[in-house]
Amino acid sequence: MTRIVHRTLNKRYPVAVGGEGVWIVDADGRRYIDASGGAAVSCLGHGHPDINAAMHAQIDKLAYAHTSFFTTEVAEELAETLAADAPDGIGHVYFVSGGSEAVEAALKMARQYFVEIGQPQRKHFIARRQSYHGNTLGALAVGGNAWRRRQFAPLLIDVEHVSPPYAYRDMQMGESPADYGQRLVAELSDTIARLGGENVIAFVAETVGGATSGALVPPVGYLKGVRELCDRHGILLILDEVMCGMGRTGTLHACEQEGVAPDLMTVAKGLGGGYQPIGAVLASGRIVDAFARGTGFFQHGHTYLGHAVACAAALAVQQVIRRDRLLDRVRVQGRALTERLVARFGQHPHVGDIRGRGLFQAIELVSDRASKQVFDPALKLHAKIKQAAMDLGLMCYPMGGTIDGRLGDHVLLAPPFIVSDDELDMIVERLGEAVDASI
Ligand code: PLP
Repeated sequence: MTRIVHRTLNKRYPVAVGGEGVWIVDADGRRYIDASGGAAVSCLGHGHPDINAAMHAQIDKLAYAHTSFFTTEVAEELAETLAADAPDGIGHVYFVSGGSEAVEAALKMARQYFVEIGQPQRKHFIARRQSYHGNTLGALAVGGNAWRRRQFAPLLIDVEHVSPPYAYRDMQMGESPADYGQRLVAELSDTIARLGGENVIAFVAETVGGATSGALVPPVGYLKGVRELCDRHGILLILDEVMCGMGRTGTLHACEQEGVAPDLMTVAKGLGGGYQPIGAVLASGRIVDAFARGTGFFQHGHTYLGHAVACAAALAVQQVIRRDRLLDRVRVQGRALTERLVARFGQHPHVGDIRGRGLFQAIELVSDRASKQVFDPALKLHAKIKQAAMDLGLMCYPMGGTIDGRLGDHVLLAPPFIVSDDELDMIVERLGEAVDASI
């Protein structure tokens, strides 16, 4: 054991010493192809010279200035860049250091908004089961990963959870995707009615489900229905795009493909591409105006908000995505990844579902395809696959099923946007080997 409290104790981690493109190299010289961008973070891969140069330039100028004293040119420019491409009406930017912080800030912004406008009775959040919004207490409370929540449950604020869109298991025979989406909206409507619409602050959801669900794409019309329902009751819509956003699904924001704009949106991971820890909340004008007219500030804050080097890294990442037309590339390589996954796993006896959008895709594993029976969680299949993949020089993102036994072990893939066809071949081939070696 080293002095670091690693994610898993009693395990020896390889020491990462270098990285270039889609590859990470360890201290023994072994090379790993990064098919998951870590956890959907490294959208430009590793060692990108333009991002490194931008960080160096900012360090030479100024690394850090506390945001209670100063703003910086680089933070302002990044905010302008994000605002220019934000979904309708959410052009105000609050910087944080990561995804959980972004979610915490969004929850508090939503609550403060209603206090500012004289509706302090609103105190409920509604979110979805089988979702992940981060590990801090507020984010964990809205999250619907039963395993992560279990031991901390007594510390969490009360949140109502409704069904996630999960067509593979929940869409009924003969039901169209649109009807299934409306059934989910009706469930949310019932929950709002039970709590009283005037008492609800916000509905919180990942636009495309990620870390606790494996690239769950919403059925057509679902998010539009959710948006209308929220509007009818004056409830805010918070979309968490920490994982699925910033280009990962082929548009800068995943909600663009749903034709929906939230009131608050959280982004992180792909914002800085892993070059620096940074996240942000994109907020609607009416929320920020309410703060400006009321107390005059958002009652929140962390020491490292808007860190200048983090902003420089994120600005450079966003500029490269635009300059190199990488969103087009995500769409093309996303289709190429789907084709390869279908060819390798389409008839696989233990792959029940292949799903996702852009370079954000997953396979769900089942012990039996016909009955969709999940593997016994005690087998820890996901952990075996992760290790087998690492032994083969592949980084992928396998996760266990939920403890209620509804979601099977699954493997998420989120390679850098620069991934080539040959690298996609290698990823799918190694993943196939790792899966077969583990079952
Ligand atoms: N929200 C979503 C949708 C995520 O996938 C994650 C992390 O995986 C988070 C929030 C938390 O982000 P972080 O790990 O940066 O705190």
